[in-house]
Amino acid sequence: MTIAIAALLVLGALLYTLIVRPASLPEPEILSPFRHVDEAKARIYENLRDLQFELRLGKLSDEDYARTKLDLQKELAKVLADADVLKEELGLQTTMKAAKPKAAEFVCPHCAKRFKEAMKFCGACGKSMEAGV
Ligand SMILES: [Zn+2]
Repeated sequence: MTIAIAALLVLGALLYTLIVRPASLPEPEILSPFRHVDEAKARIYENLRDLQFELRLGKLSDEDYARTKLDLQKELAKVLADADVLKEELGLQTTMKAAKPKAAEFVCPHCAKRFKEAMKFCGACGKSMEAGV
C-alpha cells in the first residue's frame, strides 16, 4: 500500500513537471529579443521629439539640432539593422527546423543508417548497401 502511494506521488510529480514546463518556458525566449529592439526604438524617437521641442524653444542652435538629429538617426538605423538580422536568424532557425524531418530514401540494410544519395557501400558501417551481401 505504501509503495503504491509513493509510486503515485512520483508519477504525479513527473507529470506536473512535464506539463508545466512547455507552457511556461518558450514565452520569454520569443519576447525578449524584440522587446529590446522596441525599447531602443522608443528611446530614440523620444530623444528626437525632445530635440525638436528644444529647437522650438530656442535652446538649441540649428547646427546643434542637425548634428544631434543625425547622430540619433544613425543610431536608429543601427537598431533597425540589428532587428533585421535578428528576424533573419529567427527565420533561418524556423526554416531549418521545418527542413530537418525530411526522410532520406536510401537505408543501409546492415545498420539502418539513412542516406540522401544512392551508394555502393554504407558510409556508417562500411558494408554493402545492397541487401543480402
Ligand atoms: Zn551501414
